[in-house]
Amino acid sequence: MVKQDMKLIVDGKRLDGRRFDELREIKMSVGVLNRTNGSAYVEWGKNKILAGVHGPRELHPKYLRDPTKAVLTCTYNMAPFSVDERKKPGPDRRSVEISKVISEALGHVAVLEKYPNTGIDVFVEVLQADAGTRCASIVAASLAMANSGMPMRDMISACAAGKIDGEIVLDLMKEEDNFGECDLPVAISPRRKEIVLLQMDGKLTREEFKKAYRLAIDGAMRVYDMQKKTLIESMKIEE
Ligand code: UDP
Repeated sequence: MVKQDMKLIVDGKRLDGRRFDELREIKMSVGVLNRTNGSAYVEWGKNKILAGVHGPRELHPKYLRDPTKAVLTCTYNMAPFSVDERKKPGPDRRSVEISKVISEALGHVAVLEKYPNTGIDVFVEVLQADAGTRCASIVAASLAMANSGMPMRDMISACAAGKIDGEIVLDLMKEEDNFGECDLPVAISPRRKEIVLLQMDGKLTREEFKKAYRLAIDGAMRVYDMQKKTLIESMKIEE
């Protein structure tokens, strides 16, 4: 978050015309890649994100194995052309952090103990980024894992809320993330009533935090419904 020097709300509307509690347009599909065990593609506003799951497979070298459960590893990668200023290829501190939080979020719902001594790899490729990629990546990774047939206790959904021009709003896009006052990404497992990710970049009062937190969960629930619908449609089962 940088100090605000740009008007983000004009005549009660956000720069892209959205209401304060409105999500960006979201499209999602599963089974989009042939050589993975499961895959998903998510467009969330201008974000374009592809996720692929490999495994469970025998894990090598042997010392990496866990005899009680599968080892889940997520790799989040931003393509050099995904952002305005070319991103240097390869991992950096941010991508290592996001990979870790996605692995931990998914680890809460994947039934890893069913596959001891194996490894499950989740690859997330950000083809185009416009803020909120960690939430969109969690949504894509969760869909890809469900598409792989891996037993899961629930789907993980995610959404951010934040503060711009003194107002609490849902799902910040790039300008709002850059010039706003706070971004609060949240990921949830609704069936288990668990928060599986909660990060905050910026400052909020206690009251603002409560409002933003509720708004983010409400947004994540709407995305959760879309995820379920996408999976049901992909299996061609009548709702
Ligand atoms: N971003 C960028 N270059 C980078 C990293 C990020 O332009 O090397 C942009 C990108 O659009 C990203 C946004 O900054 O979505 C916000 O990044 P943040 O670290 O807050 O994560 P995100 O909101 O994507 O989860």
